Amino acid sequence: MQELFPSSPLQARRAARVLVDGLNDMVLDYAVPEGMEGVVRGSRVELPLRNRHATGTVLQVVEDGEWEGQLRPLARLVADEPVVSPVLMDIAEWAARYYAVPVEQMIRCIVPEPVRQERHEEKTRKVVVLVQMPDDEKMNKINARAPRQASVLRYLHASEGRREPLADLGGTPALNACRSLEKQGFVRIEEEAVHRDPAGKEEFALSQPLQLNEEQAAALEAVNRAVDARSTKPLLLQGVTGSGKTEVYLQAARRVMDAGRGVLILVPEISLTPQTMARFKSRFADIPGAVAILHSAMSDGERFDEWHAIRKGRARIAIGPRSAVFAPVQNLGLIIVDEEHDSSYKQENSPRYHGRDIAVLRAAMEGATIVLGSATPSLESLHNAHTGKYEMLRMDHRADGQRLPLTRVLDMRTEAKDKRNLGILSERLRMAIDDRLHKGEQVILLLNRRGFARALQCPDCGYVAECPHCSLPMTYHATENRLICHMCGYRAVVPNRCPECHSDAILLEGYGTQKVEMVLQRCFPGARVRRVDADVTARKGALSAILHEFRGRRIDILLGTQMISKGLDFPGVTLVGVLNADLGLCIPDPRAAERTFQLLTQVAGRAGRGDVDGEVIIQTYSPQATAIQFARHHDTDGFSESELALRQQFAFPPFTHLAVLTVRSEQEELARFSIATLYKRLRAALPPAVEITEPMPAPIAKAHGQFRFQCIIKSASSRLVADTCSKEIANLHHGEEITVSLDIDAYSFL
Ligand code: ADP
Ligand code: ZN
Ligand code: ZN
Repeated sequence: MQELFPSSPLQARRAARVLVDGLNDMVLDYAVPEGMEGVVRGSRVELPLRNRHATGTVLQVVEDGEWEGQLRPLARLVADEPVVSPVLMDIAEWAARYYAVPVEQMIRCIVPEPVRQERHEEKTRKVVVLVQMPDDEKMNKINARAPRQASVLRYLHASEGRREPLADLGGTPALNACRSLEKQGFVRIEEEAVHRDPAGKEEFALSQPLQLNEEQAAALEAVNRAVDARSTKPLLLQGVTGSGKTEVYLQAARRVMDAGRGVLILVPEISLTPQTMARFKSRFADIPGAVAILHSAMSDGERFDEWHAIRKGRARIAIGPRSAVFAPVQNLGLIIVDEEHDSSYKQENSPRYHGRDIAVLRAAMEGATIVLGSATPSLESLHNAHTGKYEMLRMDHRADGQRLPLTRVLDMRTEAKDKRNLGILSERLRMAIDDRLHKGEQVILLLNRRGFARALQCPDCGYVAECPHCSLPMTYHATENRLICHMCGYRAVVPNRCPECHSDAILLEGYGTQKVEMVLQRCFPGARVRRVDADVTARKGALSAILHEFRGRRIDILLGTQMISKGLDFPGVTLVGVLNADLGLCIPDPRAAERTFQLLTQVAGRAGRGDVDGEVIIQTYSPQATAIQFARHHDTDGFSESELALRQQFAFPPFTHLAVLTVRSEQEELARFSIATLYKRLRAALPPAVEITEPMPAPIAKAHGQFRFQCIIKSASSRLVADTCSKEIANLHHGEEITVSLDIDAYSFL
């Protein structure tokens, strides 16, 4: 111990301000000893802390005179080069403040756990190369004296200068032979990094660039111009499904690569969109190792290797989901955010950052060009395009010349409500499925469902109880027997008859995938039905396995929530049914209509990719809802115009920022009391222009044994809200028995 941490403090010229791991953002100064000149902002270091060993990240290096007293020296510098680049350090600090989380939490996102812990040494192997062949006379001598050496030489000669793994030459016995040959100057033994490639042994045949159509050429031209000019003004590429956005990304990426710069591509989730990864791997198959893949199902070893391949510039294209926005791509020239509207870019637990927003920030900081692509852009991005913050690029036609599938909306109010089917499957949809199954084609059924908020809807006329102040559906709370608006806190009594048609069959309850699966098995006894839900996706690799089976046509009907709509590229699928388009609309969320529109549009653009024309059937109790009507006509402009007007009228995002403050506890009174205290202090501390609802039970009032209460905070600036909340939460001095969380720019209000 004594040796490791010399106790006599150093008379140092430089000191490092270190963010010590696991100490809740405590910063301590350490002397930088001689021989550790490589310590800079972003370095990872080991240091003595009392009498133990700790690790940390260097925030800053300061010169003599900027600290007091004598400092203990750093114990070790983890890598010669800083693990976190200066820009990523800036992003960590910026995001920590914006999302009101400790800087250390952001750094944990930037440096993957296996890299932080250095748990996985880079794997290496020995390879042998031929330097020169001995002449015939010498060769004969070797052959007589040491036959093994001779056979090694012949093997290497036959391999025409390739580097041969020692293992292939016969392992340890061959090593002695090679060592001896090396001494004689005939061969060289080298260490070579072995790369654990998550794409495994899969071979990707080189694909050639396609001849672009006019719309694609114009979009590519705009991207190229921005790259050349190092413009960081984001480009919003709105291109209908099948318009060939990926081809534009591929050709733009190639040009950036040729210029010696790096590319970062964000996708919603790799296991759901394996084709995007495959297309990049194929297109860049001529540059081995050029494309690095990052995804959630990777092993620590794979993650470690891919991270280092990117960090060292061996891989210059990185593809991954949300967290890949922090990938250490060198000399970054281009960032692409595919399906930029996708809500999986927002992290749902702390730190609750938005990957797309961080990507825009990173592009600006690194002088990179950023392209946000989608068939149905988020209203945030569309608004930024309207105000001139983003530049809009459009591709309005399909590149593959396929027709958009026929979309039918089935009015569930009039469809016979066959009690045998529990109101889940209309007769029309049942017959359509039957027909496809008989033809040996495949079916996808989607259940539009997020959370479990119960809204009040009349199954006879479609009436939904809405808040008069927010025009959003209200949520039913059984404990209070009240309807509550979760955006403004407005409460109303529960009508026992529908105010519109006086029907008394009024409470709508959601149903889960299991119930639907049961009905399907009863209606189609011979069909092979597979269900994808949260239970399935929680198991590593389970989802990819199901999708693989489905692609191989060993499943007839795939049933799942909106998550399976992302990778809808199955040639065998000719029918997509959306079972309950409404349920996604009936949640207290200003983006409910937007999400429903995006889901239906994506579905309608994807069904029927093979030779047979596709068909989409949407079951709904509210066929007149704008989200459903505009989606049916593939009218993104119409929808966004109407929805943006509504958002502006009710001061919802993108015109304001919404944050959710939640207090959870197993003890109901404690949670109630804590949120009330926080509310009072926040109300006093925040200017009157910031709206904050009085505390209310969350739409999901109890989960995992904990009672949940929340306040919604609406403001023009998230900064002020984050700063004030951090302070007040810290001042609350709450114990272990309650959990307080703050979600800045929230995407979920449940
Ligand atoms: P998006 O990403 O916009 O939904 P994709 O990039 O998947 O569209 O393209 C849809 C299909 O059109 C793909 O099969 C692709 O190979 C094809 N495609 C794209 N561009 C062209 C082109 N210029 N000429 C012919 N086919 C194209
Ligand atoms: Zn009614
Ligand atoms: Zn309201």
